[in-house]
Amino acid sequence: MTKLLLLGAGHAHLHLMKRLQEEKLDVDVTLVSPSEYQYYSGMFSGYLEGLYHEEEIRIHIPSLTKASGINYINGAAISIDAKSKVVLTEKGDILSYDILSIDIGSLTAGIEIPGARKHALRIKPNYRIEEVANKLWNANEPVVIGGGAGGVEMALALTAKRKYEGKKPVTLISHSTILEKATEKAQMKVKNILQNKGLTVITKEKVSNITSNLLITSGGKDIEYDQVLWLTGPKAPEMFRTSKLPIDHAGYLLVDDTLQVKEYPAIFAAGDCASIKQYPELPKAGVIAVRQAAILWGNIKAFMNETSGYRFKPNSTYLSILSTGQKKGLLLYGNIQVHHHLSWLLKDRIDKKFIERYKQTTSF
Ligand SMILES: Cc1cc2nc3c(=O)[nH]c(=O)nc-3n(C[C@H](O)[C@H](O)[C@H](O)COP(=O)(O)OP(=O)(O)OC[C@H]3O[C@@H](n4cnc5c(N)ncnc54)[C@H](O)[C@@H]3O)c2cc1C
Repeated sequence: MTKLLLLGAGHAHLHLMKRLQEEKLDVDVTLVSPSEYQYYSGMFSGYLEGLYHEEEIRIHIPSLTKASGINYINGAAISIDAKSKVVLTEKGDILSYDILSIDIGSLTAGIEIPGARKHALRIKPNYRIEEVANKLWNANEPVVIGGGAGGVEMALALTAKRKYEGKKPVTLISHSTILEKATEKAQMKVKNILQNKGLTVITKEKVSNITSNLLITSGGKDIEYDQVLWLTGPKAPEMFRTSKLPIDHAGYLLVDDTLQVKEYPAIFAAGDCASIKQYPELPKAGVIAVRQAAILWGNIKAFMNETSGYRFKPNSTYLSILSTGQKKGLLLYGNIQVHHHLSWLLKDRIDKKFIERYKQTTSF
């Protein structure tokens, strides 16, 4: 029987596991994941604000694999031998495959600066969220570093929670302007929201050193903190480089728009960990991994049947809704921007629907 090995329980693999419940294939499937839970980042800000309980933002992987007839191995892959078709895990498991699919997400960029590894809180891999949130909830002087969507949402969420508790807003630091890739109008809107909520926002300053209680910026500022959340964008997992697989300039696994590695067509990849040759500028976002899921499923089946597969083509615009605290959301779509409770309700509905699709009631 064909052996299909899945690395990581990312968005696209959740879809694969669900599809395996709906369509029986003559295939022996194993999933390797280091955590029993897959956490959904779209709901992290709501969790940090206290709007969701942890059970509402995570999927229990052993329940899902059991319902899908998949073997589950708790572990993290550390090396891939594409010629021999084997994967090594950090626990020493050696797993052979006929087809390998990788959806292991990304890590956090920029933590090479002195002190960051020791003192900064990092969410990725995503199962760290509970521990990170606990530390931030108990902080007196929390600081968020990173002016992208994730950093802005988390800073606003924590500020909202602190407001309910009568505590002061958080500090947000960004080396660039806030949401630098968004339209000017959207940037202005977010700037006003941050200002109205009372956050201290420091832009165009790079944190260059972190001691146990001080963040030192390139502009010579010393900022006191007791917990710092580091959200400065994605970084490629090391495994592809060390396994000598084809990678792009940043170390992400290079795949074709069929989501296959050209040199090793039995290897598929989706989500943050992959870089598509035809679309090198594609952002790293969960919504992309979700869109790739159906292509991945179709192309793995096509590979097994020796037929040609589908090609992934990204949308030119994606809907994004930033939770801005107190159940309001900033909806951004092209030139449209709406800051309203209804935007938050829409986000809440989309996110809950996503989680519900993969939740299983199977008991052991
Ligand atoms: C605070 C925050 C908020 C965000 N909000 C949004 C949002 O609203 N919308 C959006 O589109 N994007 C959002 N993102 C980005 C989003 O989180 C990522 O783009 C998305 O999670 C990538 O999905 P993925 O399927 O590639 O991998 P992930 O969802 O990261 O899943 C990867 C899985 O692989 C596992 N894994 C990791 N390493 C290994 C290994 N070596 N072996 C086996 N398994 C492994 C991990 O434990 C995890 O289960 C946000 C990011 C952050 C930090």
